[in-house]
Amino acid sequence: MTGYAFAPPPVVALPVKGTPDLFPVRRVYCIGRNYAAHAIEMGHDPDREPPFFFQKNPDNLDPSGQFPYPPHSNDVHFEAELAVVLKAGGTNIPVKDAMGCVYGYALALDMTRRDLQGQAKKMGRPWEIGKAFERSGPIGPIHRIEDTGILENGRLELTVNGEIRQQGDLNQMIWKIPEIISYLSEYFVLGAGDVILTGTPAGVGAVERGDRMEISVEGLGRFSVVVT
Ligand code: MN
Repeated sequence: MTGYAFAPPPVVALPVKGTPDLFPVRRVYCIGRNYAAHAIEMGHDPDREPPFFFQKNPDNLDPSGQFPYPPHSNDVHFEAELAVVLKAGGTNIPVKDAMGCVYGYALALDMTRRDLQGQAKKMGRPWEIGKAFERSGPIGPIHRIEDTGILENGRLELTVNGEIRQQGDLNQMIWKIPEIISYLSEYFVLGAGDVILTGTPAGVGAVERGDRMEISVEGLGRFSVVVT
């Protein structure tokens, strides 16, 4: 009846704070090394080199607050990040117009199988096996930009079991959100539903089963994720 060979997978959709609506996810882009102190801790020069990106799969995003420890890794790291989500897209978006594409923000984690990512880096291979695995993107509810205002400053923090592990400020991003959107739009056709993870400050580290991670950004509250 539908014309599909089998039932299509469900649309990946995230709750929107203060509304009954769900935000339907189209693509997920992640920027690498966007805070100088994190670039240094990973052994890189924090100079403003051109940005680089990798992707997660839309259905890697998970608002459940649970993170199942993935197989084939003994070194799974948290990376606390601000996610920016789009209501419009296009190509060659000028920096000055980029914020017009933004629907809102969310608290997110770019969970990483660091050992597998490290092997991939060493061998010049792609990063998906370290980055784009099942439920690798815990994400809190979407906050609409009309409720939050534009977030350019503000503390970004991650605690594990109540202890502060990552700390930074949104104003420390090497590439600012409008620049990220503009740059991505030169290489990809951006669209409504796209989610962009904007990088992580210093302090990334490993978790174990039973740990409770809590990410917060000034203006977005907190989001807790338990490793199961
Ligand atoms: Mn990251």
